[in-house]
Amino acid sequence: MTRIDAEKQRSQPSFAIIGAGMSGLLAAIKLREAGFDYTVFEKADRVGGTWRDNTYPGIACDVPSHLYSYSFDLNPDWSFYCSPGVEIQRYFEDVTRRHALESHIRFNDAVTRCEWLDGEWEVETASGFSKRFQWVIAATGILHHPKFPDIDGLDSFSGSRFHSARWDHDVVLDDRRVGLIGTGSSGVQITGALAPRVARLSVFQRTAQWVVPVEQVAYTDEQRETFRTDIDQLQKLHDDLSVSFNDGFATAVLDANTTMVDEIEKTCTQHLEQAIEDAELREKLRPDYRAACKRLVVSHDFYDGIQHPNTELVTTPIERIEPMGVRTRDGHLHELDVLVLATGFQVDRFMRPMKIQGVEGLLLDDVWSERPSAYLAVGVPGFPNFFMLNGPNSPVGNFSLIQTAEMQFSYVLQLVEWARTNEWKATMPHQEAALRFEKERTEAAKGTVWATGCRSWYLDDRGIPFAWPFPFSRFRSEMSAPRLEDYEWVT
Ligand code: NAP
Repeated sequence: MTRIDAEKQRSQPSFAIIGAGMSGLLAAIKLREAGFDYTVFEKADRVGGTWRDNTYPGIACDVPSHLYSYSFDLNPDWSFYCSPGVEIQRYFEDVTRRHALESHIRFNDAVTRCEWLDGEWEVETASGFSKRFQWVIAATGILHHPKFPDIDGLDSFSGSRFHSARWDHDVVLDDRRVGLIGTGSSGVQITGALAPRVARLSVFQRTAQWVVPVEQVAYTDEQRETFRTDIDQLQKLHDDLSVSFNDGFATAVLDANTTMVDEIEKTCTQHLEQAIEDAELREKLRPDYRAACKRLVVSHDFYDGIQHPNTELVTTPIERIEPMGVRTRDGHLHELDVLVLATGFQVDRFMRPMKIQGVEGLLLDDVWSERPSAYLAVGVPGFPNFFMLNGPNSPVGNFSLIQTAEMQFSYVLQLVEWARTNEWKATMPHQEAALRFEKERTEAAKGTVWATGCRSWYLDDRGIPFAWPFPFSRFRSEMSAPRLEDYEWVT
């Protein structure tokens, strides 16, 4: 190695990436391309994040597959318009191989502490490994820590019980009595897949869902061959889906009174009226709040599953769980062999329970003691060179999460390049900028469809949606060039 090479190598910043899911892999690919040194810390034994963890029957991505792909690594081989989870997991594993990331990933090694010491981050893991990095990219996801329902007697159930994101594949389901608590996006997909398999499926619904019908369209061999040979067509498909998604639905949810939400309600109502034959069942499934207030459920088989002769929709509230099953408030005991909890995630955890300690001993747990927040969803004052992908206030229900992460990462990379060019050691958002953004964001969030009076995981402890409440155009423009005056720089 020449002296110039050695100096160049020394001046290359080093990055710790936390998580080898969709956004962590993205960061690794981009840092590799830029020639930077990086280590990915992954608590599990495989890449894939949510697609590794969620293996429940019926799992698929309800965002079109040709949109739910990296823009720089499109996949001509998707089998369906909305492909099954196993294919998405395979895609992330293939991407990992194609970009030779594996040797940079420390598997089975959860980060326990990140501490800002002498102008660097000391990153420590559960195995006792410790190393210093100049930058940290937290790519830990939002839907990450399963949420268990606060129902009396949950632990007393004598059958098999597990969360939808921790599916126990050793448990036999065929011809057994299965209870399913929750009818969010996970519960709805599980219902469609399990109904024909089990002896009885009792679906415990607390709140009815608006269900957007979608056709399960398979791509033909010919279409896949065309995508393989004509990359422009593949690119066009991705770009067209992106435009229709971002200019359509993503904009509609920002205004509670928009006619597009009326259209969605109309489509879902027609679907309900046409698909559900029994009038009593239809009324139980009819929501009483604005469509898209909760995260919209998209399904091709939920109504089939719910009308299957093996299925019973239970809307009487749950009183408690007993060794033999679920007791509802009408005194009825729904006897079960297996209980599935599709009850969602603790969405305010992000990188926690890691101990993250910034300047002058500042703890992220203290900064976020009321609720998580972040300047433009990426940075937190007091935590230099620490950036998040899909962090607090990120677009969660409106834009494609992959596209969001790509734009956020390119924003962070601009800050890194700016710091290198100017020989600044570190940067973090100004407190004043973060407060200004959060005030404006909170006010805008109050006018979105998410704040029209429903219970959902989009709401914070005050009942204010925590997601990005501005149009896609604003997100794109904010991410395209950091406002450097909103940052503190350390020389
Ligand atoms: P979720 O949307 O939070 O739904 C949780 C469900 O559990 C709700 O039906 C909720 O009822 C019910 N529940 C929670 N506690 C309960 C209790 N104590 N008693 C009775 N019912 C209870 O969780 P999820 O279905 O796992 O979905 C989370 C998110 O993951 C989705 O919104 C989506 O962003 C993502 N996801 C995406 C896909 C995809 O295809 N792209 C698939 C699955 C998940 P209430 O409605 O009354 O609160």
